[in-house]
Amino acid sequence: MRVLLRCLILMLASGLALPVLAVDITAVRSWRAPDNTRLVLDLSGPVAHQLSPDSTPARLIIELPDARTAGPIALPAAIAPLKSVRLEKSGQGQRLVIDTLQEVTPRVFQLPPNEKYSQRLVVDLLLKVPVPIASTVTEAAPVAKVPDQVTSIPVMRPVEPVTPAAKPAEKPVISVPEPAPEKPDQRRYRNIVVAIDAGHGGEDPGAIGAKGTHEKNVTLAIARELEAMLKAEPGLTAVLTRTGDYFIPLQERRRIARYQHKADIFISIHADAAENRAAKGASVFALSLKGAGTATSRFARMLAERENRSDLIGGASIESGDDTLRNVLADMVVAGSLDHSLHMGRNIIDRLGGLTSLHSKRVEQAGFAVLKEPGMMSLLVETGFISNPQEEENLISKEHQRELARAIFEGVLRYNQRYPAPDSYFAWQAEQRSKKTVIASAPRVEKKPEPVRDSTRAEALMSGQSGAPESKMIRYRIAPGDNLTRIADRHQVSLADLRSLNNLQDDTVKIGQTLKIPVN
Ligand SMILES: [Zn+2]
Repeated sequence: MRVLLRCLILMLASGLALPVLAVDITAVRSWRAPDNTRLVLDLSGPVAHQLSPDSTPARLIIELPDARTAGPIALPAAIAPLKSVRLEKSGQGQRLVIDTLQEVTPRVFQLPPNEKYSQRLVVDLLLKVPVPIASTVTEAAPVAKVPDQVTSIPVMRPVEPVTPAAKPAEKPVISVPEPAPEKPDQRRYRNIVVAIDAGHGGEDPGAIGAKGTHEKNVTLAIARELEAMLKAEPGLTAVLTRTGDYFIPLQERRRIARYQHKADIFISIHADAAENRAAKGASVFALSLKGAGTATSRFARMLAERENRSDLIGGASIESGDDTLRNVLADMVVAGSLDHSLHMGRNIIDRLGGLTSLHSKRVEQAGFAVLKEPGMMSLLVETGFISNPQEEENLISKEHQRELARAIFEGVLRYNQRYPAPDSYFAWQAEQRSKKTVIASAPRVEKKPEPVRDSTRAEALMSGQSGAPESKMIRYRIAPGDNLTRIADRHQVSLADLRSLNNLQDDTVKIGQTLKIPVN
């Protein structure tokens, strides 16, 4: 190959005419994203290409003088903004003619072969006006039928605590009127924005299971379930980085989350694959700050390497490629939110552990390109091994997808309840609780991590949640299937309070053991 290349360079340098090396076009695919439509030509090798001067903003003509087609090729359907796509003979070669319904800016580049594809010519048609996607799934995919939404404006939902007075009473009830419960001031409290990133998409199918399940479809289905749950929860809202079957470069995913949607939390959803079909279990990852090569385990490093290859497979052009300086800066600033990412990760692992086996019981860390955005907590969740036949079966089940989403949702919710960000609904809730709670005389022993933005305020809010006096305690006997997190949730107390009240060194509890639980 190298010899051939050298010959070509020599011939070019000496001004000799090149022999015509025909390149086969073997397939043409299209992917539709909200702000661009992508055409991909599969090729037998690198191809010369040139935008014809006869092109107009609504008609692109790309000359491929050395290309040929072995037989008829299925061309993409004319879904807006495409009006038509055709290949026609042009001299010895072929010409690709693309008519569009609106003006587009073309970006044409080639991608070298990789483990999934041969050489590719990519034609991105960048739209001036983004168009919401009606349906972009070009392959059979288990995707929930939730209306596509390109952007979502965070709106504080009114939170109205249910009070007995709100329910119609059958008989007149004589009671001492209680002060009306305080409502959150909607001007003061904002929703926490969670950006959900469905891994892979479009050209990049991600891992592929034995049954042919594509990771990109599983991740989008789980992302949509999670989106619905987050949007239904007071104080939280959600956006998706990708709403259909198209590719987004890794760096772009972070940017969409942080700059387009001002996300506080970024969760990238994936499903793993391994040579060993027996490998199984979910895992949660945060960024490793010590550099791309370092990781908390070999497993984490290999996984990050595999996920980082997405840009090569999915087709990021050079302009959209990684910006080294930006990444170095990101490394420095991400450190601030990393502790919080790790905390939230542990909350998610807790929940996933009750649903599926865990590949790793701790939050692993490695140099994931998609997690390197400063200013937001970022996690990557591997929901299971698509390469494991049983887990592949689970991952395509609607029910299991929903439960995975619920586990992630509960982890995010729990994190926000424990460490409320200032000005969030959760800070408001904590404030309300602290007003009601009689300050216990027992000193607190638990050291809490600093809240995300304004340590003094949230710290004050959290310290107000300390345990109630001994007289307002119940005794709870641990039943099979219980764990400390669930018990804390069920009784609306913090894990820290439970631990300190019961002198627990860790979260281990035994069936039959009795716990003291404060009652509000
Ligand atoms: Zn993945």
